[in-house]
Amino acid sequence: MTLDNILEEIKKAQTIVILCHESPDGDAIASSLSVMYAVKQLGKDADVVIPDYSKVFNFLPGADKIKKEGKTKNYDLAISVDCTDLKRLVGGSEYFETAKKTVQIDHHSVNSMFADYNYVNPASPACCQVLIGMFEYLGIEINKDLGTCILTGILADTGGFQWGGVTPETFEFAAELLRKGVNISKICQQVLRNKTKAHCEFEKLIYERLEFFYNGQIALAYLTIEDYKKLSTDMGDDEGLVEMIRDIDGVEVAVLLKEKEGLNGFKASMRSKDKVNVSDIGLILGGGGHSRAAGCFIQGSLEHAKTKIVNIIEQEMKK
Ligand code: 5GP
Ligand code: MN
Repeated sequence: MTLDNILEEIKKAQTIVILCHESPDGDAIASSLSVMYAVKQLGKDADVVIPDYSKVFNFLPGADKIKKEGKTKNYDLAISVDCTDLKRLVGGSEYFETAKKTVQIDHHSVNSMFADYNYVNPASPACCQVLIGMFEYLGIEINKDLGTCILTGILADTGGFQWGGVTPETFEFAAELLRKGVNISKICQQVLRNKTKAHCEFEKLIYERLEFFYNGQIALAYLTIEDYKKLSTDMGDDEGLVEMIRDIDGVEVAVLLKEKEGLNGFKASMRSKDKVNVSDIGLILGGGGHSRAAGCFIQGSLEHAKTKIVNIIEQEMKK
């Protein structure tokens, strides 16, 4: 079984690196740290390499161990978490492709199975929830620190148990962690409620720029490189904005276009309420994600990106 193989590879490895997807969110960062703690219980030190992430997550136990770069180019074992494919994996070519053995753990429904051992469960609302089952099987004890990391990933990817995909196990696990003293309300405050001033300025811009299509069922806004230069102080400042658009009454699909420096185009973040599978739209445009949260990159001008994505969403909605 895959998990036995993974355990064997961890035991064999002298050097281990843990990697996650670009623009890492709470689930990606927390999954990385969770795997670091688990591997530690198996007697191994692993390098968690995340070159850039929101300082919001510095409260996580173990965050001080995160490295901007790996120690070597030839790790015995590389473990990817919360990532669909090699293209999105930060450090993919330096550390993953050069490692002797590779493992990946994920929860996206479309995953290219790019590792030697792939442990992927699309039924799980967060990669961190996939880890719970895995850790139970491997005999890893979920203590307060590890539990704080895991719950952070779950809270981040479910918007605080709000989005679809939350399972009875999610609550059972949260209850167990409460008994162990994990401070759920502190995590929620830190990860879900706290807003930077730059975030509030982004909110203002978005409300000013909102455009509606298809009888108000599609809503779109954008942020330019100039906006980021003027306002942003931290990577996480634009988290939660696309959900804010989705919350508007009558909106089924929300789109936020974020212009990317040096790439001549826009990263699109999409969210849907309960009908449209935005992962399909992401895939059509060369990206991917989940049914209610997905993304892609669109090259070209703002007008081009808008027209392209709105047309595709309209086509999907007419089906
Ligand atoms: P976000 O809008 O928060 O950046 O991403 C939402 C979801 O879609 C996340 O699960 C993320 O991993 C996935 N996603 C976003 N952009 C891409 C992309 O370009 N390719 C793939 N495969 N997944 C993406
Ligand atoms: Mn995730």
